[in-house]
Amino acid sequence: MSRTAVIGAGPCGLAQLHAFEQARLDGVDVGEVVCFEKQSDWGGLWNYTWRTGLDSHGDPVHGSMYRYLWSNGPKECLEFSDYPFDEHFGGPIPSFPPREVLYDYIVGRAKKSNVRQFIEFDTAVRQVSFDDATQTFTLAIESWTSGESSFRTETFDYVIVATGHFSVPNVPEYPGFESFPGRILHSHDFRDAVEFAGRDLLILGSSYSAEDIALQSLKYGAASVTIAYRNAPMGFGWPDGIAEVPALQHLDGRTAHFADGSVRDVDAIILCTGYQHHFPFIDPALRLTTTNNLYPGGLYKGVVWTANPKLMYLGMQDQYYTFSMFDAQAFVARDVVLGRLPLPGNDTMAADVAAWLGRYAEVASVMEQIDFQTDYVRDLMTLTDYPAFDLDMVRQHFVTWEHDKDDSITGYRDKSFASPCTGTVGPAPHTTWWDELDDSLARFLKR
Ligand code: FAD
Ligand code: NAP
Ligand code: MG
Repeated sequence: MSRTAVIGAGPCGLAQLHAFEQARLDGVDVGEVVCFEKQSDWGGLWNYTWRTGLDSHGDPVHGSMYRYLWSNGPKECLEFSDYPFDEHFGGPIPSFPPREVLYDYIVGRAKKSNVRQFIEFDTAVRQVSFDDATQTFTLAIESWTSGESSFRTETFDYVIVATGHFSVPNVPEYPGFESFPGRILHSHDFRDAVEFAGRDLLILGSSYSAEDIALQSLKYGAASVTIAYRNAPMGFGWPDGIAEVPALQHLDGRTAHFADGSVRDVDAIILCTGYQHHFPFIDPALRLTTTNNLYPGGLYKGVVWTANPKLMYLGMQDQYYTFSMFDAQAFVARDVVLGRLPLPGNDTMAADVAAWLGRYAEVASVMEQIDFQTDYVRDLMTLTDYPAFDLDMVRQHFVTWEHDKDDSITGYRDKSFASPCTGTVGPAPHTTWWDELDDSLARFLKR
């Protein structure tokens, strides 16, 4: 009987457990599957924590989500094809739910497939190494299940890494930070915009975190938000109170100086400067090293570690697609373990990776990025029996969504999309996103 370790019980780890369970329900012997989760509960980033800094075990806090976080893409673009939103919520719901609603959906499927029994909570994997002689992995495991820390090792035939890559911040430093008389934090530590009501904020970065934290800070009462970009502005039609300026040069006290010579006095600085793929618990020879991009090298089909195909990684790409892509990847990983998906030799796998990387190097625009990841998911879908969904519709939704954001950065979350699984069209929300301050599930589902 083979033993498989899944590290992490966020959306990817839960997708993996669900995939194995589907095969087991079909009468397949899936061997022993054990999932290790260092937090006390499942859901990964979607399991909101107020904590910043260290968790109760003294580990860096994993959570990067904050209060009042709404989905930034249509929920129809991430729908599980074997567990539609209609099934979970008993009818149609609007297309841009807040965090608690998506958490409920993720957990709903995990409960339905009864996978909690496979997860050891409060258990962190500290080291993953491979023994050539026995062809097995040894995991060093620290567990707090007994209340205090205890260590052990276990051996496995397969390891599936599902630990996410939006938790370890990339923290740059600019001249003058050391004497700035206010708070400087990374978006990883941002929790509640209300803290900045009445304040003049400086945000660094020009991606999703910068966009969303700027908007919600203003929504919850910031006096002004200045966003400094390093390469190119986001260029949205910002509401009054938000302005984009060229790169920060330095700070002089609380006065920020920008590349165009302009200056602003600010009270706090939020570094929306992205995250690192950081896996200190994996031996260097097995460790994925990459920037945040749509095709990390070394992974066949974006999943299988070509240098040692008994090791797999889920969700390591930058993400337009999320939950449905994670599912398609998890079905691939499962079928590798079950021997249903025979892998070609190392050279063939490396050539396949190289072909995708070659194509990725040609990708020049956001629309081409959407097409690239759509084609990647399409390729994954040919490999397993993960139930089909209308990928062309999802692709079109992403294109429409990008145009909606250009039309109105405060209004795009009020739009409705059709499900690629059931065809159901999300109803309009009862309150526009810009006017809605309550992010609770109860409020969202109220008719
Ligand atoms: P995670 O959700 O990060 O889960 C990884 C799990 O692994 C965690 O539970 C962690 O505790 C555990 N773990 C880590 N290391 C170890 C270890 N050594 N041992 C044991 N356990 C370990 N996606 C969307 O689709 N829509 C959104 O609106 C959206 N908003 C986002 C907002 C923010 C601020 C961020 C940062 C991301 C957002 N995402 C969004 C993307 C997000 O990456 C995915 O939705 C999803 O959470 C990724 O799942 P994952 O399982 O790969 O990783
Ligand atoms: P990201 O997409 O990786 O973007 C990182 C940004 O940091 C880039 O704009 C980059 O600038 C900038 N940057 C890096 N180093 C810098 C430096 N030294 N100085 C100035 N700028 C620097 O990371 P992210 O925006 O945190 O997004 C991470 C994930 O969270 C995404 O999946 C996103 O969808 C998700 N998210 C979702 C929501 C939501 O509303 N649901 C909110 C926030 C985040 P360049 O562009 O110049 O390289
Ligand atoms: Mg951009």
